[in-house]
Amino acid sequence: MLSAVGPPVTVRVPAKINLHLAVGDLRADGYHDLVTVFQALNLFDEISVVSTHPRRGADHADGPDVELLGDVSEADRAAVPLDGSNLVWKAAVALAEVADREPDVRIGIRKSIPVAGGMAGGSADAAGTLLALSTLWRLDLGREALMQVAAQVGSDVAFALHGGTALGTGRGENLVPVLSRHTFHWVVALSDHGLSTPTVFGELDRLRAAATAESPVRRVGDVEPVLEAVASGEARSLALLLGNDLQAAAVSLDPGLRRTLRAGVAAGALAGVVSGSGPTCVFLCADGPDAVRVAAELAGAGVCRTVRVAHGPVPGARVTDGDPAR
Ligand code: ATP
Repeated sequence: MLSAVGPPVTVRVPAKINLHLAVGDLRADGYHDLVTVFQALNLFDEISVVSTHPRRGADHADGPDVELLGDVSEADRAAVPLDGSNLVWKAAVALAEVADREPDVRIGIRKSIPVAGGMAGGSADAAGTLLALSTLWRLDLGREALMQVAAQVGSDVAFALHGGTALGTGRGENLVPVLSRHTFHWVVALSDHGLSTPTVFGELDRLRAAATAESPVRRVGDVEPVLEAVASGEARSLALLLGNDLQAAAVSLDPGLRRTLRAGVAAGALAGVVSGSGPTCVFLCADGPDAVRVAAELAGAGVCRTVRVAHGPVPGARVTDGDPAR
């Protein structure tokens, strides 16, 4: 058993949704070009890091200890790896390399963001780890350098550090902040199972290859009106423009989502959309009280595991405890 040395550093990091997600055709390197508008919501995972001692011998795996904290469902325990395939491990190893030190730390993950839910929970945890470790190790890297490490670790990691609302291009890692001084109110419908992101992209490629002139796969429109609606703060304008190219693929793999999307609108939401690769669905509401009403009605409709009321934009990863500079 490795003992902890010194106090932990804790970071809170938000989930993301995509207000707009345009997916380009499959590239030769297997990726798709994306144009997306991310928004960070107040649904947070928490990452705690602590130094461990003694250092491990050469026979020990060359990485951090990773554990899940809090009440962890059986499904989450089965779905979240604790080895080198966990994004927090990758983040710790990438940052240790930049800092030229050993990743001799224990990383605790307290999850509220649904696993494999299309809300970038793994990426959020990686972003939280980067900020927590750079604080624990007192690295004076600067924001740009941290964002660069984030982009190496995964395509949504940079946004989780950044937070707010942002336009993402490339694989989503090239970010430009979007002006958004207004708060939008959301209801988040969580599913009792996940959808694999690569499988959803594969299904979109399959649907597009099988499309005909009579039954095309529709694509979302231009991103500019979405940015204008975000800037205006008018939920009704934004509701008309929410769009996700992955939605058809997520619904094709999980046809029950069609019922969830209909139920949210029937409950009084302005509009609903699948979040990222799904299966989480998010519903934009006119205001906070409306979101509470929609959530109550949707919870009773039996179309999802559970619902949450949320708002955005919120800031990206933040140290909540243990920052020696605070
Ligand atoms: P995205 O929207 O970024 O595509 P997602 O929200 O759909 O991702 P995640 O919760 O990030 O999905 O998890 C996808 C898979 O990644 C999980 O099924 C799990 O195997 C793996 N994974 C690696 N690290 C983590 C982590 N820290 N938390 C959750 N899953 C993780």
